[in-house]
Amino acid sequence: MTLAEHYKVMTAWDGCLLSKESNFVPGHGNPKADIVFIGEAPGKKEDEQGVPFVGAAGKMLDKLLDSINLKREDVFITNTVKYRPPENRDPTKAEKAECLPWLLKELEIIKPKVICPLGRHATNTFLPDAIIGEVHGTVQQSDDWPYTIIPLYHPAAALYNGGLRDVLFEDILILREFL
Ligand code: URA
Repeated sequence: MTLAEHYKVMTAWDGCLLSKESNFVPGHGNPKADIVFIGEAPGKKEDEQGVPFVGAAGKMLDKLLDSINLKREDVFITNTVKYRPPENRDPTKAEKAECLPWLLKELEIIKPKVICPLGRHATNTFLPDAIIGEVHGTVQQSDDWPYTIIPLYHPAAALYNGGLRDVLFEDILILREFL
């Protein structure tokens, strides 16, 4: 199955409660990428444009990628939850669970070497007991998943916190080893 076929099936599915009030935002980038970044859920701009990370957090993500000479076309960017939660509230446990099979299917098609969950929601999807403040910027392996996991802080958290921004730019350097 290709990603396009996968997304066609997914848009036809109305099992996600959020799909009644917002648009489907599929992943975006290189379907053969070795690295996949996984955010939390689309925001307003992403909902409008149908593309992940096109708002302020996306600009920060672009700068991060640029800092290790990567472009969006080199990687794949997607979200844990594929629809925007109202008022950008945190996605619920049920919403994350509803979208998980779709995210896992994306990964099964892309077969990345490394995934970078951004922030605690994406990180705990793959490492349920991990604390983002402890595991950010570290290389994690789990018997449950066939890829290396490198959790990073969410770029949105770095927008208003210069300290976190520095940590994020330091943490991403570890990815160069996998390029
Ligand atoms: N934040 C996310 O987690 N995902 C997006 O697509 C945009 C902002």
